[in-house]
Amino acid sequence: MTGRFANVIVDISHEKVDRPFQYRIPDALLGELAVGMAVMIPFGLGNKRIKGYVMEITDRVDYDESKLKAVDSIVKDGISAQGDSIRLAWWIKDNYGSTMIAALKTVLPVKKKIRQVVRKTIVCKVDADTAAQKAELFEAKHQCAKARLMRELAAQPMLPQTLVTGKLNVTAQTIQALEKAGLLEVQTEDVYRSALPENLSASVQAGWQKKGKKQLSESQSRIVDSITAEFDAGVRQTYLIHGVTGSGKTEVYMELIERIIAGGRQAIMLIPEIALTYQTLVRFYQRFGDRVSVMNSRLSAGERSDQYERAARGDIDIMIGPRSALFAPFERLGLVIMDEEHEGSYKSESMPKYHAREVAGELCRMKDASLVLGSATPSIESYYRAKKGGIRMFALKERLAGGQLPKVYVEDLRSELKSGNRSIFSRRLYSLIDDRLKKGEQTMLFINRRGYAGFVSCRSCGHVMKCPHCDVSLSEHTDRYRKTSRLVCHYCGYEMPGVASCPKCGSKYILGFRAGTQQIEELLHKEFPTARVLRMDADTTKNKDSYERILSQFADGDADILVGTQMIVKGHDFARVTLVGILAADMSLHAGDYRAGERTFQLLTQAAGRAGRSALPGEVVIQTYQPEHYAVVHAANQDYEGFYEEEISYRDLMMYPPVAHMMAVLVLAEDALTGAEHARVLAEQARRQSGDDRPVIIGPTEAFIGKISDVYRYIFYVKHRDYQVLTGIKDALEQIIHARQWIADSVQFDFDPMNNY
Ligand code: ADP
Ligand code: ZN
Ligand code: ZN
Repeated sequence: MTGRFANVIVDISHEKVDRPFQYRIPDALLGELAVGMAVMIPFGLGNKRIKGYVMEITDRVDYDESKLKAVDSIVKDGISAQGDSIRLAWWIKDNYGSTMIAALKTVLPVKKKIRQVVRKTIVCKVDADTAAQKAELFEAKHQCAKARLMRELAAQPMLPQTLVTGKLNVTAQTIQALEKAGLLEVQTEDVYRSALPENLSASVQAGWQKKGKKQLSESQSRIVDSITAEFDAGVRQTYLIHGVTGSGKTEVYMELIERIIAGGRQAIMLIPEIALTYQTLVRFYQRFGDRVSVMNSRLSAGERSDQYERAARGDIDIMIGPRSALFAPFERLGLVIMDEEHEGSYKSESMPKYHAREVAGELCRMKDASLVLGSATPSIESYYRAKKGGIRMFALKERLAGGQLPKVYVEDLRSELKSGNRSIFSRRLYSLIDDRLKKGEQTMLFINRRGYAGFVSCRSCGHVMKCPHCDVSLSEHTDRYRKTSRLVCHYCGYEMPGVASCPKCGSKYILGFRAGTQQIEELLHKEFPTARVLRMDADTTKNKDSYERILSQFADGDADILVGTQMIVKGHDFARVTLVGILAADMSLHAGDYRAGERTFQLLTQAAGRAGRSALPGEVVIQTYQPEHYAVVHAANQDYEGFYEEEISYRDLMMYPPVAHMMAVLVLAEDALTGAEHARVLAEQARRQSGDDRPVIIGPTEAFIGKISDVYRYIFYVKHRDYQVLTGIKDALEQIIHARQWIADSVQFDFDPMNNY
């Protein structure tokens, strides 16, 4: 693209400047400046120098040419956005709502090049005999350091400088002196920082022996063959592999990747951050050696920058990582694989609130690539699309490494109460834990995410207080002294006073539900004083490697019981775990949003899948006040199809995604009045659509968390069957925000939300 003018997006996140500004390209930069580059430009009244990205280079002048300012310079070491990244950023902006600069920063996960590491090697310039003679000479002169180094070089003509200055304790001056004397030479080379865990990286450098390729089963081969045959025939589409954990999906992914890269293309392997364990990496490295790299949040800026650079230069074929790995700058991308595609972490929680699955779809369209989704419990979205023919589906039905599906017990906590048991442990769970301790086998106890504020349920009959309009659970808000309480709907703001007795059975045991990992740990110590207990939750995994450490401690048999949040459901295989207890399935069942049933089914199915992974048979105890709830029933039977049928009819009836679409509009403000007013104005605008485009509007109301760090939060929801109608409404709302010059990001959009507000 040539031209004398550059249209630049400035690096300020504000609605007011969220458009390209035009600049003249000075002669010195003509021909050098390219689309995507980061540049410094004079901006505003004071002509302050700020950073921006070139979106377009053109000869078309949109303003008075004489008034245009000139681009100042190209940012040295800036990462430039390629044409595809820019197009993808526009797409993200259009579909999820955000400023262009925020979208650009999303697709450029590495902002800045960081100089590569220089590796120095000391190379002997004389033959071994001469080196040995020199060593003796130095020794005679009592020049010990010189003697030490020459002797070492006589034995080994190339030494890493770090070894020489470190272990051999030779100073830089000594090395210099020997170099001057012509005895050695210091060679330097730029090297990429490794993104691998250290011990893995060492084995790769030592020439890891490639291995690990398995003879695929018939059903695995069928999947690989069908997808590659379509790929070779030029068909690009989305596939869904529905297979229980351990059914061989990862082998299928690796074989697909191998074939795709044999054809000269590249692949991205997405894995939820929490499942990106050492064990997973080992499998990929054993198979692909250093043609694969990894991106994750644990890398340093330098390590990230190097991986980005290697991808851009085509030095690697495979990038593994969580959702940001999607933005690896691959020129020849042919395949994106998304493991555990149902995982909530694929959705970004900050603006733009994109879903990696959809962005991957768009990326594949742009790059002429195919998308493969995999899960043991596919998202309702993907399964729905598969049923409608938009996704081709495959199933893997058997576990390959042996181990049968576990026996599942559903324990009714209502009857526990009736028979006088008020403990967190049902009688069955208690006796099974006891049994495992005696046998020396391991137990995992699992409670869902901490901090779901209590839904209110009856301990006698299981009745749950629900919103009459939204069919989601109401949440209990108590005053500071826990004297009065009210029940509130997360979605529509419906409110009622707290209840003293169950409206269904009259019992007075109707209360908010709270239980945490810590309480369970304490209770275990009390009930089973000799048991060794490990706890894993947000508190115990604050440190960098604590997650891996706890899991490996448990894998090594250093504990009898692991108590944790859903974190423990992922990752390692524990051969000695023969009992899994899910303490309160109700916690996720009544999280107060439309995905509660889906999330519960997934959690229960996956948690259950942890038991009996080896020859020892497994048992699972699901404790709940609602044993008849369809998510519990179908999870206990490992019946995905049955669950899906009930779930999709609920979504359809209530107009929830994926049958319809839902846009959450979150309004933030420094004071409550402004927040409420802005939310009202925007909801009013949304309501203005008429005819077929008329949406269903819920709210506005104070958000479930009404205030965070002194910022007030208001929320409303817009539902419609057509996604385009919602993005159209979003555009109209953005215009209002723009015209009234509200603070950027004081209004946040979230399409088909995964979380509550
Ligand atoms: P998933 O990704 O579905 O959990 P994996 O690919 O990890 O499944 O496979 C589960 C286990 O079965 C692994 O130990 C793997 O090495 C083994 N496995 C997978 N495919 C085969 C095969 N075709 N032959 C033998 N073992 C296999
Ligand atoms: Zn009741
Ligand atoms: Zn409601």
